[in-house]
Amino acid sequence: MSLNLTDITLTYPDGENRLTALDDVTLDVLKGTLTTVVGPSGSGKSSLLAVAATLITPDSGTVTIDGQATTGLTRAELTELRRHKIGIVFQQPNLLPSLTGAEQLQVMAQIDGRKPHTAHTRAMEMLDAVGLADRAARRPHQLSGGQRQRLNIARALMNDPTVLLVDEPTSALDHERGAAVIDLITRLTHQRATATVLVTHDRAHLAAVDQIAEVHDGRLHLPATPDPTAAQCSDRIGSPDRGGPVGG
Ligand code: ADP
Ligand code: MG
Repeated sequence: MSLNLTDITLTYPDGENRLTALDDVTLDVLKGTLTTVVGPSGSGKSSLLAVAATLITPDSGTVTIDGQATTGLTRAELTELRRHKIGIVFQQPNLLPSLTGAEQLQVMAQIDGRKPHTAHTRAMEMLDAVGLADRAARRPHQLSGGQRQRLNIARALMNDPTVLLVDEPTSALDHERGAAVIDLITRLTHQRATATVLVTHDRAHLAAVDQIAEVHDGRLHLPATPDPTAAQCSDRIGSPDRGGPVGG
């Protein structure tokens, strides 16, 4: 087991009251598997990722990464844990405009204390893994939206994390490029054995995932775990008999 969220409740200040963003959420994600989180806008998906990433401490509940409970760790210890164990892909790529693709990745490895030579080798390996080996010298503005998102994914994987957290990576992409990004995340999850949580409201490509979680008003449901033998049948999800709500 690589990522465990146990009985997580998270509230935000809301005037005189508190708004409950996550309501007693429990989720286990195994190494080498992909869990997709769907749900309407404002249901708590990004909050869930922020808690899993240890960027927000919940009011109650436990986040366990690779068997290590994060409760009680200092900020410095959490930073260290994130650096080594957690790869995060935000909705917006946050790439540095002046750096080439290879340099964006090398910066991550140097932060991790690798020698520049090793960092370069690793960066080239990861660019190759996301199909951007021939774009290594390009800066973000010389890449398409889909390529930028793939670079973003490569960067998140630079330090070989246990946990990969991805927030709506396809929201700025057309359907075809979005599908390619989801396929890439699925493949990398298996190849790199990450425990991956992918937030998306594009339900079209959920057939190959290991677990689908639905979030509504901060509550998480695991309605049906897809049958792995039916992974080829992409119209299973969202068929009338499942009656699942459409993500917002
Ligand atoms: P989603 O990613 O599913 O759209 P979020 O996790 O961003 O949902 O938000 C869940 C709820 O928490 C929403 O009602 C949102 O307005 C609220 N919320 C999110 N972040 C904050 C914050 N920093 N302060 C106060 N309320 C927030
Ligand atoms: Mg969100």
